[in-house]
Amino acid sequence: MSTAAVELVGLSKSFGDVSAVDSIDLRIEDGEFFSMLGPSGSGKTTVLRMIAGFERPSGGTVRLAGDDVTTRPPFARDVNTVFQDYALFPHMDVLTNVEYGLRVQRVPRAERREQAMAALDAVQLGGLGDRRPTQLSGGQRQRVALARALVNRPKVLLLDEPLGALDLKLRRAMQLELKELQREVGITFVFVTHDQEEALTMSDRIAVFRDGRIEQVATPAELYEFPTTPFVAGFVGTSNLLTGDAARAVLGRAGTFSIRPEKIHLDPEAGLYSGAGHTTARGTVADVVYLGSVNHYLVELDAGPTVTVLRQNLHGSTDQSMSRRGQPVNVGWADEHVIDLSDPPHEKETP
Ligand code: ADP
Ligand code: MG
Repeated sequence: MSTAAVELVGLSKSFGDVSAVDSIDLRIEDGEFFSMLGPSGSGKTTVLRMIAGFERPSGGTVRLAGDDVTTRPPFARDVNTVFQDYALFPHMDVLTNVEYGLRVQRVPRAERREQAMAALDAVQLGGLGDRRPTQLSGGQRQRVALARALVNRPKVLLLDEPLGALDLKLRRAMQLELKELQREVGITFVFVTHDQEEALTMSDRIAVFRDGRIEQVATPAELYEFPTTPFVAGFVGTSNLLTGDAARAVLGRAGTFSIRPEKIHLDPEAGLYSGAGHTTARGTVADVVYLGSVNHYLVELDAGPTVTVLRQNLHGSTDQSMSRRGQPVNVGWADEHVIDLSDPPHEKETP
C-alpha cells in the first residue's frame, strides 16, 4: 500500500467528560478530495483541528505522508486550513493577505509577489489584488481565503465548512469551482460539511460521522446505493426505513430495511412491478408535496407504514398530481432495491 496523505490511528479527543472523537481510524490517500460529513456536534471539526495541530489528541496518532506529527505544532505540519469565517486581515489588501504565509516563511519579496499573483489567478481574482477584504463579496472573500491557504502549496488543505456563509446559488457554483481547483492543483483536500448534497457533489470519498465515530467510509455512489447503517441511509439522501412489524408486514421479513423514494413506483407503473423479484403493496395517497420538477407522494400502506415515493413531473399537470390525494393506489418495487441494514456492525467499509 502506498503512503497515505493523512492517516489517523485510534484518534480520540475528550473535553472533560465529553467524548468528542472516539477512537477513529482513517486513511486519506494522496490527491483525494475527501469529505467528513455528519450532523453538528459529531466531531468533524475536532478531527480537522487535530490534523492541523490546533488540538492535542487525548489518544491515538496523526500521520502526514507517513510521518507521526501527533505532537508537532501547526507550523511544523505541511497543511493549511480554510475556515468558514475566512479570517482575512481587514487592514491588508488582498495581495498582502495572500502573501502572508510566504512572508512568515521569509520567502523573498519578488518571489512572494509572483506566487501570490498565481494563487489569485487560480481562484479567478487576478485583478483584485489591491482591494481590501471589505470591498469584496462573500464569495470573493472565500476565494481570497483559499488563495492564501494554497499559496505555499501545502500537501494537504483542510477546509472546515468553507462555503457555509454563502447563499445557496453561490454555494453551488463554488462547490464546482472548488472541485475543479482541487483537480488542477492536485493537493489532497479534507473537506468538512454537514450538507450531504455538498459532500455527494464534490467528494472522491466520504466518511460519515456520528457521535465522534465514523459510521461508513465510501464513494458518494456507494454511500447512496449501499448504506451499511440506518443512520447513513437516513442522513445521505432520503430513505424509507422499514423495521420491526412494518418490515414483516410489507416485506414478509424481519430486520431493518431501506428503500429510496425514487425506487418505489406508483400506479399506473406499479403494475410492472408484480411477479418474481418484485413486491407490490396497496395503500392510500395521504399527501402530495409539489416540488416543481418532482413530487413526493406520501403513501399510507394498508399494511401499516407510510412510505415516501418520488416521481418526476414528466407528464400531466399539477392538478392531476394533487387530485390523487385520498385516492387508493398500488405501489411496487424491485426487490433488489431493498437495502438490508439488519444488525450493522459499527464500522463497515464498503468494499
Ligand atoms: P462538529 O464539527 O461535527 O459540529 P465538533 O468537533 O465541533 O463537532 O464537536 C464535537 C463535540 O465536542 C461536541 O459535543 C462539542 O460540543 C464538543 N467540543 C468541541 N470543542 C470543544 C471544546 N473546546 N470544549 C468543550 N467541548 C468541545
Ligand atoms: Mg464543526
